Amino acid sequence: MTVTDAPTTTAASEEDEIRSLCVQLLDELPPKQTDPVAFLGRQFDLGLAWIHFPLGNGGLGKSPRLQKVINETLVGAGAPIAAFRNVIGHGMGAPTIVTHGTDAQKARYLRPLFTGEEVWCQLFSEPGAGSDVAGLATRAIQDGDEWVVNGQKVWTTLAHLAKWGMLVARTDPDQPKHKGMTYFVVDMEAPGVEVRPLYQITGEAEFNEVYFTDVRISDDERLGDVGEGWRVTLTTLMNERVAIGGGIPAKGTGFIGEAVKVWTQRGGGGAAEKDELMRLWARAEVLRLTNIRASQLRSVGNPGPEGSIGKAMSADLNKDISAFTVGLLGAEGMLFPSGYRMERPKHAMQWANPQQAFLRARANSIEGGTTEIAKNILGERVLGLPGDVRTDKDVPWTQVPRS
Ligand SMILES: Cc1cc2nc3c(=O)[nH]c(=O)nc-3n(C[C@H](O)[C@H](O)[C@H](O)COP(=O)(O)OP(=O)(O)OC[C@H]3O[C@@H](n4cnc5c(N)ncnc54)[C@H](O)[C@@H]3O)c2cc1C
Repeated sequence: MTVTDAPTTTAASEEDEIRSLCVQLLDELPPKQTDPVAFLGRQFDLGLAWIHFPLGNGGLGKSPRLQKVINETLVGAGAPIAAFRNVIGHGMGAPTIVTHGTDAQKARYLRPLFTGEEVWCQLFSEPGAGSDVAGLATRAIQDGDEWVVNGQKVWTTLAHLAKWGMLVARTDPDQPKHKGMTYFVVDMEAPGVEVRPLYQITGEAEFNEVYFTDVRISDDERLGDVGEGWRVTLTTLMNERVAIGGGIPAKGTGFIGEAVKVWTQRGGGGAAEKDELMRLWARAEVLRLTNIRASQLRSVGNPGPEGSIGKAMSADLNKDISAFTVGLLGAEGMLFPSGYRMERPKHAMQWANPQQAFLRARANSIEGGTTEIAKNILGERVLGLPGDVRTDKDVPWTQVPRS
C-alpha cells in the first residue's frame, strides 16, 4: 500500500482500535519514566508515527484523520513530540521519503528520523535561486555508482545538527530548468560538506551556508529517478507550506496567547487597543479553523496548493500580532530580554518572549516560500487565474542568463 492508497474515512471502531494502541504504548512505556528515543521508537513500531504511512514504515495505512486522535492522546499524557525534535525531517523529509523512496530507503531513514536520532535539513535555496528554486546551479555528475556534487546552498535551517540533507542538484544542464534536476539524500558528515553559520536578526543562527566540494553520494541515496528531481521537490515544498503555516494550536495559544497574556499583565489598554486585540483574535481563530478544515479535507497525506493559504495568512498574522504585543510593552518592547547570545540553537522557529517573537516573525513571510510566491500559487493553481510570465520555461538551463 502506498500513502495515496490510504483510506480517507474512519469508522468509530477504528478510532477505538487506535486509542487502545495508544493506551498500550503509554502502559508499556510511561513517558515520564522513558527515554524519548525509546518511546518514539516504540510509537513508530506500533504504526502510530504517521498513521497513513504503510505498515512497517511507522504507519498502519489508515486515514490521516486518525493522527489527531493519536497526537492528542499521547501529548496529553506527556509523551515527547517527534516534530519538535526534527522539524524539517518530520514535516517535509518523511512525506517525501514515503512518497518517492524505495523500500530500502524507507526502512533506512524513517525510524531514526521519527525518533530524532537523525536530524534532517533541506538543501534547496542557493544564493542565485530562492523563489525560483528550479534555477539552482549546484551540480551533481555521475561517476559509476556515485554522484559527485559541487556547489553552494544557503539559508539551510539546522544544517549544523543534521545527519541527512534533502539535496536537489542539477544533473543535466542542457535540459530546461525543471527537467534537468535530481533529488538526493546527502550525508551531512561526508567529506567535502562544510556548514557555516548565518546569524539572524534574533542573534541566533538557525540557518547556515552549506558548501559542497567533490562530495560523493551513492546512487542508492538518490530519491526518485534521474531528471525527476522537480517532481520530488514539489512533494517537499507542498508539505513545507503546511508544516510552517498549517499548524492547529489550541484555541488562544501561540502568538495570540502571548498578546492576551501581555494585555492582561498590563491591566488592559485603551478602547482602540482592545478593538485591535479583538480583531487579531478573530483573525487567529479564522486561521485556526481554516487549518482544521484543510486538514480534515486533506484526503491523503500530501497536501495540494491550498496549503499556501495557511502559509500566507499565518505569516501576515504572526507579524501583526507580535508587533501589537511589542507595542503594548511600550519602551520595554525595545529591550531584548533573552540577550543577543549569537547561538546556534537546537530548534528552529522558537521564541521565548514577545520581543524575540516580533523579530523572529519577520522571517515568516520569506521562509518556506515568500508570501508573494504563495499568492502566485493560489492565483494560478487554486483560483485558475492567468499564470506568471515565464520566459525561461522551455529554454535549456545553460542558456538562461543568471547573475
Ligand atoms: C528563517 C528562514 C529559514 C529558511 N530555511 C531554509 C531551509 O532550511 N532550506 C532552504 O532551502 N531554504 C531556506 N530558506 C530560504 C527561503 O526558502 C528563501 O529565502 C525564499 O524562498 C526566498 O528566496 P530568496 O531569499 O532567494 O528571495 P528571492 O527569490 O530573491 O525574492 C526576493 C523578493 O522578490 C519576490 N519575488 C521573487 N519572485 C517573484 C515572483 N515570481 N512574483 C512575485 N514576487 C517575486 C519575493 O517574494 C521576494 O520579496 C529559509 C529562509 C528563511 C528566512
